[in-house]
Amino acid sequence: MKKQVLDCVVVGGGPAGARAIYELSKITPNIALIDYRETLGDKLCTGIIGIECVEKYGIDKNIIYQEADSADIINPAKDIFHLKSEKPKAYIIDRVQYVQNLINQAKTNNAKIIQKYRVTGINQTEDEVAISFSNKEEEKVIYSKSIILASGLENKLINEFNISPLKKENILNGSQLKIKSKYPNVISNTKVFIGSNYGFQGFGWIVPTSNDELLIGVLTRDKSKKIITEFISLVTNKYNIIINESDKKNIKSWGIPIKPLKKTYDNRLLIVGDAAGLVKPITGGGIYYSQISAEIAVKTIKNALKINNFNCVVMANYQKEWEKQIGDEINRGNKLRDTLFGFEDNMLNHLTKFTLSNKLISKILLSKSSSFDNHFQSFANFITNEKINNLFSKSKSDSIKTLIPNLKKKFLDNLRN
Ligand SMILES: Cc1cc2nc3c(=O)[nH]c(=O)nc-3n(C[C@H](O)[C@H](O)[C@H](O)COP(=O)(O)OP(=O)(O)OC[C@H]3O[C@@H](n4cnc5c(N)ncnc54)[C@H](O)[C@@H]3O)c2cc1C
Repeated sequence: MKKQVLDCVVVGGGPAGARAIYELSKITPNIALIDYRETLGDKLCTGIIGIECVEKYGIDKNIIYQEADSADIINPAKDIFHLKSEKPKAYIIDRVQYVQNLINQAKTNNAKIIQKYRVTGINQTEDEVAISFSNKEEEKVIYSKSIILASGLENKLINEFNISPLKKENILNGSQLKIKSKYPNVISNTKVFIGSNYGFQGFGWIVPTSNDELLIGVLTRDKSKKIITEFISLVTNKYNIIINESDKKNIKSWGIPIKPLKKTYDNRLLIVGDAAGLVKPITGGGIYYSQISAEIAVKTIKNALKINNFNCVVMANYQKEWEKQIGDEINRGNKLRDTLFGFEDNMLNHLTKFTLSNKLISKILLSKSSSFDNHFQSFANFITNEKINNLFSKSKSDSIKTLIPNLKKKFLDNLRN
């Protein structure tokens, strides 16, 4: 019997893999997706996506928990600043359902979905890739002309290629607890906590998904599990939420890579989403970039199939395109992260009071010029805004007065590097 060789195999069925298999399924039915999870898409996440992601890729209204048009920012002095925009800047979604909807559409287009099997090896030959996958009972091999690696942080498989892995120092640590609150609507909007209590370059959040379910989490360069435990005590005291010791056993932790791999392709291989380190560095949000990278990967595979050439030169077009679309934002976002998360608590208190309690500044911060998806560009718009510059320059505080010129200098340095 002639060996069957698929056009493409997608490893991993998170948001990146789901988008990839769905877009591929519009081109060819000779494709498969493999994921070891029982429930596809069920990886630790808060499920917040910006309006740009929704506008570009669409969303089924039934999977939106909340439109996020307001948030409270809580500074180290525990002052609360309420921000409200005219239109939602982001959506809190059921991410599991988002992933599964895409995969189900791919299934309808005849894509093969292989669930509860883990890919254990990828071997390249001149004419194809052999992908080994197994569960407890059996081991199988599938052959394909190309492969999209969408395995998130678990990207040991790249060791089989000529690619250096993600660096540990470029991975943030996230921890989150999902709880059912005894009192519905005790917290009605997202709350973001900033300052040194959340570890080096960290922040905390409480996000209501439905009227009685809350996500409490932290993202930090330090050990997130220890920090979330302290954060939970604060939340329990302040918001009268009851969290039992047994609930704490449900804290989950996972990493977020914020700097891309140097090389995200090889012969017959493209790496997308978290596996490639394609994430918004300021917030650690990766769903949007996983969609963008998967879409570009499929365009590259489509071209390779057309010319029947999957070599490095053809595959390199993928990296060129994602660099063009999101490369600058990721590079500059990383530098901006170091600046924004570098303020000491005193300065943060001072700065939040000056900016977030000023109506004009808050309005500009929430205007169209600031986007949940392009942080660096939004920051650039903010510090070059004439009205903002006037307000800061009139401040009686020297540190506030000099802040914008200092940030501008750093911003210009950023652009030069
Ligand atoms: C605490 C926390 C909160 C977050 N909140 C947000 C948020 O609000 N908004 C946002 O945009 N992003 C958020 N993120 C980041 C977001 O979750 C990721 O960026 C996103 O999931 C990346 O998608 P992905 O498909 O690349 O990877 P993943 O979602 O990790 O999917 C990878 C898939 O590959 C499968 N897999 C791995 N190895 C193998 C293998 N060998 N064989 C078969 N299958 C395999 C896994 O089972 C998994 O399903 C958060 C992350 C954390 C940790």
